[in-house]
Amino acid sequence: MTYALPAAIERIPAAQLPQLLRTMPKAELHMHIEGSLEPELIFALAQRNGVTLPYDSVQALRSAYAFTDLQSFLDIYYAGASVLLHEQDFYDMAMAYLERAAADHVVRAELFFDPQTHTERGVPIEVVILGLSRACHDAQARWGISAALILSFLRHLSEEAAFETLEAALPYRAHFIGIGLDSSELGNPPEKFERVFARCKALGFHLVAHAGEEGPPAYVWSALNALQVERIDHGVQSEKDVELMQRLAQTRMPLTVCPLSNQKLCVFPDLREHNLPRLLAAGLNVTVNSDDPAYFGGYVNDNYLQVFAATGMGAAQAYQLARNSLEASFASPAQQAAWVQQLDDCFARFAQSA
Ligand SMILES: [Zn+2]
Repeated sequence: MTYALPAAIERIPAAQLPQLLRTMPKAELHMHIEGSLEPELIFALAQRNGVTLPYDSVQALRSAYAFTDLQSFLDIYYAGASVLLHEQDFYDMAMAYLERAAADHVVRAELFFDPQTHTERGVPIEVVILGLSRACHDAQARWGISAALILSFLRHLSEEAAFETLEAALPYRAHFIGIGLDSSELGNPPEKFERVFARCKALGFHLVAHAGEEGPPAYVWSALNALQVERIDHGVQSEKDVELMQRLAQTRMPLTVCPLSNQKLCVFPDLREHNLPRLLAAGLNVTVNSDDPAYFGGYVNDNYLQVFAATGMGAAQAYQLARNSLEASFASPAQQAAWVQQLDDCFARFAQSA
């Protein structure tokens, strides 16, 4: 930790913690916009677009969300995305998420999107990018939330396919700020994408990658060394490697941790065993995020509330996690400082009213 905690933070009573977690300003840095598709919206879009789903009701679809690992989740996730065809569909999906995020006091959201999930179905990349970008713009005007897009490559596909996606997206580069790497981790190590990430770095994009969710610490090392990322998405397996933990702590490398996702995909089947408190205590720059909120049982505030209730963390950790999220965002330093001031004011109010 490189900053002092607000004065009198210890006076905030435990009973106030849930309300503090809900109302404190925060950034969400790890969420896949396709993973915000609620079953109701999937059915509405299917009807609007004349798409037939392999489920005959909202309830049947919702009850299919009994994943046991990353792959069983991804199979349903790609089926859900099949209803997205037109720019308005992408816009509506992103607006639905951003409205919820603003209600959760998210002041900054950086959204992953997977163009290959859509271009492989024949949807032009500009339909995807322009629909999402328009939502980010309108959400700022409507709810005051700052939002930006991170284009993610699907790692189960080839590096050549990633290069093709990048080239197709470049005419629209003003609409996204960074590049990520997601989908099936095991068997698809970061170094598979070393050359395309080097190209993205040369183009001036921010770089992030999923690593150490189910995969070993070696994947986190190669995301750092081969891909030169600025944030690690998940990274919870880093705990198995002492040297890696030291490197992450010393460099203040942000980890975008997703507690409910980890629980649902059985990375930590019992939330009480989640290593978030240990990572924080070890000096790592961890943040809390929702990953695929429609599929994993909750948006970002649900993640905070449930992991705090399960692990017994308190106001000091709440402050650290929120501040880490604001400062690990790709917003400007001046904008980050303004949000940190809002965070400090929020904690001061709770300490005063105690
Ligand atoms: Zn993810």
